[in-house]
Amino acid sequence: MKARLRFHGAAREVTGSMHLIEADGHTIALDCGLFQGRRKEANAKNRTFPLKPSRIDAVVLSHAHIDHCGKLPRLVREGFSGPIYATPATCDLVKLLLADSAHIQEEDAAYWNKKRVRRGDEPIEPLYTAADVEEAVRLLQARRLEEGFDVAPGMHARLYEAGHMLGSAGVGVEIQNRGGEPTRIVFTGDRGRSGMEILRDPAPLPPCDYLISESTYGGRETPRAESMREQLADVVNQIIDRGGKLVIPSFAVGRTQVIVYDFHMLVLEGRIPEHIPLIVDSPLAVRATEVFKLHPEVYDREAFAFNKLTGDMLECKHCEYTHSVEESKALHARKGPMIIISASGMCEVGRILHHLKNNIENPRNTVLIVGYQAAHTLGRRLVEKQKRVRIFGETYEVKAQVKVLNGFSAHANATELADTTAPLAGKVRRTFLVHGELDQAKALAATMRRRGFTDVVIPESGQKFAIP
Ligand SMILES: [Zn+2]
Repeated sequence: MKARLRFHGAAREVTGSMHLIEADGHTIALDCGLFQGRRKEANAKNRTFPLKPSRIDAVVLSHAHIDHCGKLPRLVREGFSGPIYATPATCDLVKLLLADSAHIQEEDAAYWNKKRVRRGDEPIEPLYTAADVEEAVRLLQARRLEEGFDVAPGMHARLYEAGHMLGSAGVGVEIQNRGGEPTRIVFTGDRGRSGMEILRDPAPLPPCDYLISESTYGGRETPRAESMREQLADVVNQIIDRGGKLVIPSFAVGRTQVIVYDFHMLVLEGRIPEHIPLIVDSPLAVRATEVFKLHPEVYDREAFAFNKLTGDMLECKHCEYTHSVEESKALHARKGPMIIISASGMCEVGRILHHLKNNIENPRNTVLIVGYQAAHTLGRRLVEKQKRVRIFGETYEVKAQVKVLNGFSAHANATELADTTAPLAGKVRRTFLVHGELDQAKALAATMRRRGFTDVVIPESGQKFAIP
């Protein structure tokens, strides 16, 4: 049996994940992620594939983050028509996130085309549209964790818990060898960490011959995943004392639901008064919350029990979900104390900008930063305690308090990655490190070699490897 691995995106970088397994004339793709980065580069990378999409038999998705699934509609537009396998929760999140992504692609193209037309240039096409997304999601096929399935002739797959986001999985693939043992390949997807709220801990990596591991924080220690609950209680009680508003910019999927969950627990435990309203003001977050409610099968034990006890862990007496723009606008006139969670998580677009604009100049208010803020974003400027910020082209004085809660990265850090992979040392023939900047991948490679992995490589995009 002739088989090989081919690395496309997320090789020596963190986005655009796509790895191909080819065996006996059949090809499967692990993930099909959007490359996110500088516009021009992203545009070029997101419009190319390493082979004709129609030649790919099937795709197996590790999880619904857009850098792992966001190129699927383009793959389908260019001829892919096979099944896309993922866990049931991932399938539901993918539908939501791809629709959102298409909207962004269409708006982006419209924005640039306005400029291009003025210059007399040809208009550009969006990377994909809502119609392409519809075609893509029709190909989704749900497979439960630990349930084996045939992914292409001669290739059998199994998904296992990755503990990184709702529905996230690692992928094990077995290539059948005539008369011999199968060749086993394990792809970690994005690996989560133990102790995260709502999610179960990642499962141990299955034994394998070839390991494809993520390396996002291969050389970096991030604080342990600890409960946000304690810190949240303090901030909420302070805002009640001051009668102010607590504004929380948050990613729509994951972090928002954890805050609601923690808030609900704190209320029931009597650690914050129940009369303070918590408002989730983000259409995507509201829809993502509905997906969370559909999938208690992937909650950890604590969340499962709490959900049973309360009837619905993501609903409580003073928790409100807004739907219309009018409801969102009405929040500006409402008096505090109150908590508003809104997107986007880095304060770049969306309703959060209106909430910041309206609340940032009042010293009774607090802006609570709960996620990573990339350089040059409004969120980062707030973290850096800049005294003035620009929102919608106007300058605002930052008089509200800005608090940062750290320690909530959903990626395994250097120690966790090293410990996770350690049991496979001496057993794996070759390890491929992907999904990490080169310095992070190199650091993890060095650690793994020290721990007994003899063959660790960091593939370049386009590189192929025979797997005998
Ligand atoms: Zn991810």
